[in-house]
Amino acid sequence: MAQRVLIVGASVGGATAAITLRNLGIETVLLEKELVKAKPCGGAVPPAAFHEFDLPQSLIDRKVKQCLIVSPSGQETHVPVMGSVPSDDDYVAMVRREVFDGFLRERAQQRGAELIHGQLVGLQVEPHGVTATYRSMSDGREAKLTADVVIGADGAYSPTARMLGLPNLPRAVAIQERIALPPSKMARWEETADLYLGREVSPDLYAWAFPKCDHIAVGIGAGPGHTAKAKQLLANLKARLGPALDHGRLILREAHVLPMEPRKQMAFDRAMLIGDAAGLVVHTSGEGIYWAMKSGQIAAQVLAHALDTPDAAHLRLYEQLWWQQYGTMYTFLRWLQRWGYGNERQMEVFTEMCRNIDVQRLTFDSYMYKQMTPGPWLAQMRMTWDIINAQARNYVRRRTPLREQETYAVV
Ligand SMILES: Cc1cc2nc3c(=O)[nH]c(=O)nc-3n(C[C@H](O)[C@H](O)[C@H](O)COP(=O)(O)OP(=O)(O)OC[C@H]3O[C@@H](n4cnc5c(N)ncnc54)[C@H](O)[C@@H]3O)c2cc1C
Repeated sequence: MAQRVLIVGASVGGATAAITLRNLGIETVLLEKELVKAKPCGGAVPPAAFHEFDLPQSLIDRKVKQCLIVSPSGQETHVPVMGSVPSDDDYVAMVRREVFDGFLRERAQQRGAELIHGQLVGLQVEPHGVTATYRSMSDGREAKLTADVVIGADGAYSPTARMLGLPNLPRAVAIQERIALPPSKMARWEETADLYLGREVSPDLYAWAFPKCDHIAVGIGAGPGHTAKAKQLLANLKARLGPALDHGRLILREAHVLPMEPRKQMAFDRAMLIGDAAGLVVHTSGEGIYWAMKSGQIAAQVLAHALDTPDAAHLRLYEQLWWQQYGTMYTFLRWLQRWGYGNERQMEVFTEMCRNIDVQRLTFDSYMYKQMTPGPWLAQMRMTWDIINAQARNYVRRRTPLREQETYAVV
């Protein structure tokens, strides 16, 4: 008997779509090629994900309450993680993807989704249904699977999108090392996450140091024009962190790509794309976990009402709902990435602007709770005034990047 929905990829997006479909009583199969290795990821998750997807706090390694932003010249801005209405729930959760994804996958199975350990190698979408060919990861044999609809939740390289004949999206590379540190060194990152800006660590995105249970994850993002330099950028970041990493032990080095552009179309006849496969990563932060889960949920809800007529005309309601809800936020954050990370002078302005309390509140309301409401006019005037001042200051007098101050060596 044909299963009703096939989901390719059982990571955060795929597992959430499966849970939503199963809660609505729809037969669901998850096809996943990698059940052991974790998805390379910084693992920063907003509290909204824990509320909206009913996730236990036990998945959290640490709650970050403070962000340190360091500009190319070494200007430091300490930003408390706080929305416009301060609450105990103001934090950035740090998770390990092996734990987080494992939980979601298990929940999907408990709700009745079937999980197949296999790799999608072929896909045919025909008027009467979908036929997928997969290679079993246990015995290497190929088998076929039929379904009414396929959801591509298979990440930035999305084989599903490719098999649907869609082009690749422009991609950034992100590379990260997990480094175990002695407790005396970890204390520095007890409740703090660091972001580093500068051409030598991340020319157009940012570099990070995120604390986990017993280790620190240090990584860099490099946009489409800089991917070949990724290893060098990571080495530079470690040089910049210097003694903070002394006595560290490398546990894991991991890398993957991030889509840098949302797809114009995310639903087709009998097929939908969610998460990274649809290009739904926020550019300023490289954040994709919440968005993969949210797009999985919305896509599944739309699909549940259109299973009898799963053509593009009906399934594209998913796209409309998505852009209605998040279009303004995406456009703003995209502009912010270009404005704030465009060059080192702008990175200095960005670091200064993060001291403005209205900017902090706007940023954390949109990050933690996925809400973006314009502040009162007085706050908007204050922000505009501060931006003009910071912009003028940094244009009149250039700050010297740390690498030129010889405070650390670029290796
Ligand atoms: C280094 C790095 C750091 C990041 N840090 C953060 C962060 O701190 N916070 C944040 O929110 N986001 C972060 N992101 C982005 C985040 O990891 C992704 O946006 C998110 O994982 C997307 O989820 P997804 O379910 O769409 O796809 P993915 O998590 O990429 O999962 C796709 C799944 O599909 C499976 N798959 C692929 N091909 C096949 C096939 N042929 N057959 C079967 N299965 C297949 C894969 O094995 C995988 O499990 C980071 C990304 C990188 C690379």
